[in-house]
Amino acid sequence: MPPWYKLLYGRFRVWLNHIRYPENIWYGGSITREHALGSVGKGWSKIINNLYDAKPKYTNVITVKEKYSTLRFYCTHEPEWYTDLIEYYEKKSGTVCERCGKPGKLRSENRYWILTLCDDCDKLDKEQFVGDSDHEHDDRIL
Ligand SMILES: [Zn+2]
Repeated sequence: MPPWYKLLYGRFRVWLNHIRYPENIWYGGSITREHALGSVGKGWSKIINNLYDAKPKYTNVITVKEKYSTLRFYCTHEPEWYTDLIEYYEKKSGTVCERCGKPGKLRSENRYWILTLCDDCDKLDKEQFVGDSDHEHDDRIL
């Protein structure tokens, strides 16, 4: 791709994003509610929806992810009250199962990745973990 064409394509993407996400103020701007919901487990959908429902129009959400078992919700141009609200929900995510939304807690034992899960999802997750590390099945297939 010649450089001028790349530039043209880049500018086209900017224009396209402005059309697709009209609430964006700056290029590269906020991620949509749908994208945010897809970035973490379904159990946290209510938390994400609450944050989006309360979000001021001029506030851009730039990153939504799970880190060290709790929600991370990064924004730009957010008023102080919204920062407080995010903090509240980030803390709350540490008590809600990321998979199903039931009351959960931090699970760190016997796993690569610490997560906030309820008892049922923790059990399921552990069984899966054991299954993954069981290589006997692979040998049989070969
Ligand atoms: Zn659960």
